[in-house]
Parts: sequence; C-alpha cells; structure tokens
Amino acid sequence: QCAAPAPAMAEAAMAARVPPDEDGDECLPQYRHLLSPDLLAGQVAFITGGGSGIGFRIAEIFMRHGCRTVIASRNLQRVSEASKKLVAATGQQCLPLCMDVRQPQTIVAAVDEALKEFKRIDILINGAAGNFLCPASALSFNAFKTVIDIDTLGTFNTSKVLFEKYFRDHGGVIVNITATLSYRGQALQVHAGTAKAAIDAMTRHLAVEWGPNNIRVNSLAPGPISGTEGFRRLGGKFAEKSNQFSMIPLQRAGNKTEIAHSTLYLASPLSSYVTGTTLVVDGGSWLTSPNSFSALLGI
Ligand code: NAP
Repeated sequence: QCAAPAPAMAEAAMAARVPPDEDGDECLPQYRHLLSPDLLAGQVAFITGGGSGIGFRIAEIFMRHGCRTVIASRNLQRVSEASKKLVAATGQQCLPLCMDVRQPQTIVAAVDEALKEFKRIDILINGAAGNFLCPASALSFNAFKTVIDIDTLGTFNTSKVLFEKYFRDHGGVIVNITATLSYRGQALQVHAGTAKAAIDAMTRHLAVEWGPNNIRVNSLAPGPISGTEGFRRLGGKFAEKSNQFSMIPLQRAGNKTEIAHSTLYLASPLSSYVTGTTLVVDGGSWLTSPNSFSALLGI
C-alpha cells in the first residue's frame, strides 16, 4: 500500500510544477523557459486587452518566445505604460495602440498602423472583455448589451478586420479568450456567460470557414485566475477566504502565467492541427465549483 505524501512534500512538489506569477500588471522578475525561446521568433501578435491582466502576461510570454506584439485597448496610457515594462523585461518590440473593439473604424486604423510598423501579423488574441457580478433580475438592458458588444461583437469585429487586412492572404492564428460560465449556467453571470458562449460558437464557425485560408481559430476558457481584474470583480478574494478553491480538483486558483503558457500552445505550431476547439484551463474548476444562486448572492 502506498502512503500519501506528507503535506509539506506535496506542497513543495506542487510549487515546483506551477510556474511563478506576479500580482498586478508587472513582468515576471525571472522566467525559466519550458519551451524553445525562439518558438515564435519573427512573428507578430496582435493582442486586444494586452495592457492588463491575462492579456499583459500573454504579451510577455509571447515576447519571451521571440514574438513582437501589438497591445491594443481603449486607454492609451495604460497600454503605453504596459508596453514600456514589456520591452524592458523582454528586449522585444511592443507597439501600444488605442482602439475600441466596438468601433470597427478604430480597429481598422490600429491594424493599419500595426501593419505599417511590422509588415505582418501572425496571431490575433481576442482578450478584450468586461464583466461584473449581477443577478439577471437587476441587470439593465444596457448592461447586458454592453457586455455582448465588447465580448462577442468585439471579437467578431477584430477577427473580421484582421481577416480582411492580412489573414485571408497570409494565414494566421486566432485565440479567443472565453470562459466556462455558460457550461452550468453560472449564477450572476448571464451576461458574460452568454457573451462567451457565443464566442465559442463563433470559434467553430470561423474555423470551418477560414480553415482553407490556413487560419486556425480556437478558444481558451480560463477558470479563476489570481492577480487579475476578473478575479477581483468576480468574488475571487471571497472564494479564497472562504476556502472555496479547495473544491476545485487542483485545489487552487490558476495564475496568469499558466493561461499564457496554454495560449502559447494554441498560438504556436505546437497545435498546428488544432482548430475549432475550446481549451479549458481551469484546474477542473467548472466541474465542482459552487453554483448556488442564493449563496452567491451573498458575495
Ligand atoms: P482585464 O485586465 O480587465 O482585461 C480586460 C481588458 O480588455 C482590459 O485591458 C481593457 O482595457 C480591455 N477592454 C475592455 N473593453 C474594451 C474595449 N471596448 N475595446 C478594447 N479593449 C477593451 O481582465 P482579465 O481578468 O485579465 O481578463 C482578460 C480576459 O480573460 C477576458 O476576456 C476575461 O473575460 C477572460 N477571463 C478572465 C478570468 C479571470 O479570472 N480573470 C476568468 C475567465 C475568463 P481598457 O480598459 O484600456 O480598454
């Protein structure tokens, strides 16, 4: 009969397997490559929402693998400051641009500027989104529409502009950052769950239509990810304090580096035969996490 490992040993073994992360929008003080540092050499990634949270860490990890990046969102100051940090930490180029995924003309202008600067775009990461906790009964018509506008329409708008401006003729890779919220009808999340489910559907439609143009389209659905705005707004601290993460099969929240590594897999030739799918990166969370409407109303 095998003895269970002592808790301290188990903790040390887990720490060795989980890549470190930094809270807030700061680059990692050090980074150990698990994959070849030139995995994305010569490539350019266009990352919406790349100035903060998960998008920021995706930009950093891509740059640490030889990629140049464009990080685009509404707040130019935010992306400009993020870009400075990313360049200093990785030595790669990063172009910060202002655009709103709800306004196609601003996307067109940003993509034109990116192509002028880099002459190519190989990867699109659709990370821009907005979210908050709210029961359906208290959600205004406008609040629901705004989330659909940013998440769903924004993903379509940006994908279509990239397709027309570059991917149709050169191929490319699209990774849509979605969520697992709709899988079990997560309480207080009808707006974001609906928006992200539509994006997962869009992923399959676009994979079918654009596959012949050598464009791969996949979704990546994170679970609760520490050190992010999403975590702060969606009750992450509450879940941490009330020990709810112990209910997750891997017994913890994920971190941004883990999401960036899985995105790197989907964006790189490591997944060259993968399209039209959703990669869930949540430690098994959606299978076991609480979904009681009345209990969650207490947050
Ligand atoms: P975040 O830091 O708030 O990232 C969202 C980004 O989207 C911001 O950089 C924001 O920048 C940008 N954005 C919002 N509206 C925009 C618009 N209209 N046009 C262009 N950019 C816009 O949040 P995060 O928690 O890291 O989330 C990143 C992604 O992961 C999101 O798609 C989210 O749904 C998904 N996700 C997160 C978690 C989590 O635990 N954090 C879990 C599941 C899924 P500006 O304000 O400058 O525009």
